[in-house]
Amino acid sequence: MATAIGQSEWEVAVPEKPLKDKLYFENLKAKVIDTNLCSRCLTCAAICPGGITVVGNKVDFPDYEDKCLDCGACVRVCPRFVYEPKSGLGDYIDFIAGRSKRFAGQDGAMVTELLVSAIEMGMIDRGLFVGRDEKWAPEMFHVREPEQLAITTLGGTKYTFADVLPALREAVRFTERGVGIVGTPCIVSGVRKLQQEYPIFRERVKLVVGLFCTENFHYGDIRNFLEEKGVDFSKLIKTNIIKGKFIATMSDGEKVKFKIKEVDEIVASGCNVCTDFTAVESDASIGSVGSEKGFSTVVVREDPAKKVIDFIKEEGYADFSEAKPEELDYLINLKKGREKNISSDATSS
Ligand SMILES: Cc1cc2nc3c(=O)[nH]c(=O)nc-3n(C[C@H](O)[C@H](O)[C@H](O)COP(=O)(O)OP(=O)(O)OC[C@H]3O[C@@H](n4cnc5c(N)ncnc54)[C@H](O)[C@@H]3O)c2cc1C
Repeated sequence: MATAIGQSEWEVAVPEKPLKDKLYFENLKAKVIDTNLCSRCLTCAAICPGGITVVGNKVDFPDYEDKCLDCGACVRVCPRFVYEPKSGLGDYIDFIAGRSKRFAGQDGAMVTELLVSAIEMGMIDRGLFVGRDEKWAPEMFHVREPEQLAITTLGGTKYTFADVLPALREAVRFTERGVGIVGTPCIVSGVRKLQQEYPIFRERVKLVVGLFCTENFHYGDIRNFLEEKGVDFSKLIKTNIIKGKFIATMSDGEKVKFKIKEVDEIVASGCNVCTDFTAVESDASIGSVGSEKGFSTVVVREDPAKKVIDFIKEEGYADFSEAKPEELDYLINLKKGREKNISSDATSS
């Protein structure tokens, strides 16, 4: 227990330090970062009052010897400090395919539809989107008005890590009604840890949408790889992974395709120990596998997401059809198989 003197309401439970004489950041580094368990979700950076950030492809804290406050916030929220790997399809209320009538997106634009509908219902006053610049570097956007979706790069999948959780720190400060957030399974786990540990996230994050995910890439790595494959970023309009192939589509219709196996070498190390394909901890998980082309598969898990889907149905904002849970089995099992890459040290405190 770390207790601020004379202020018992500040008393918080902080995990034991495996390295007793070291700072909490040094413990995080030894247990998660240096062992390549780190998913680069940046939950630690979202809460660190000192200076955890990303240097190159790694989470780091320059000058931590001088600047780490040794408060333990990073290890309290890191989903992998004591790793409890999640997997499977998870619990759900409904399993459907949807296609927005209002927005264009990667698949059926149901992620965009959920967040915008949640704003229109008054559930949230901002949704965090991952946009991109002309070289496909990810950029965070706080969408407050549906009109902002005129920025056409806000929808669609960017196969690269984005700073979603540092943006959430700002969003919870400024929101009046609540925040909606979208992220890969590791980001969803980070949000849940923040909510478990800090009331402000519990009270203000009202909708958590998870994306199905097999793997992700550091921006510089995937950009270099695609350039070597001949992708012209000034013309690139969509990236997609379908049936074992990476497909980059240009504005003139040209497609650069290659087997996803070819990118194995640049898959981020933290993905090799991730077992969660469907983001089981989300309010709703959305992906492309499981429904026909042009639709998004929507796994409705919790009440907030159900309320938004009911609103979308009432307003007639989307077409719905059947989705097939069994079509997710292959990727769910593929990721569950990564359990073997997790050492027993990672799961013990
Ligand atoms: C790294 C990654 C890997 C994926 N792997 C699979 C897979 O193997 N199988 C599968 O079925 N689906 C996968 N998906 C999900 C799929 O690509 C679509 O995002 C999903 O079907 C939603 O489509 P949509 O048309 O409903 O979303 P849209 O309405 O187009 O909205 C897309 C949303 O995704 C957000 N987003 C985009 N890139 C990122 C990112 N890097 N990090 C966080 N948020 C982001 C945007 O902010 C936007 O809100 C993956 C997504 C990502 C980001």
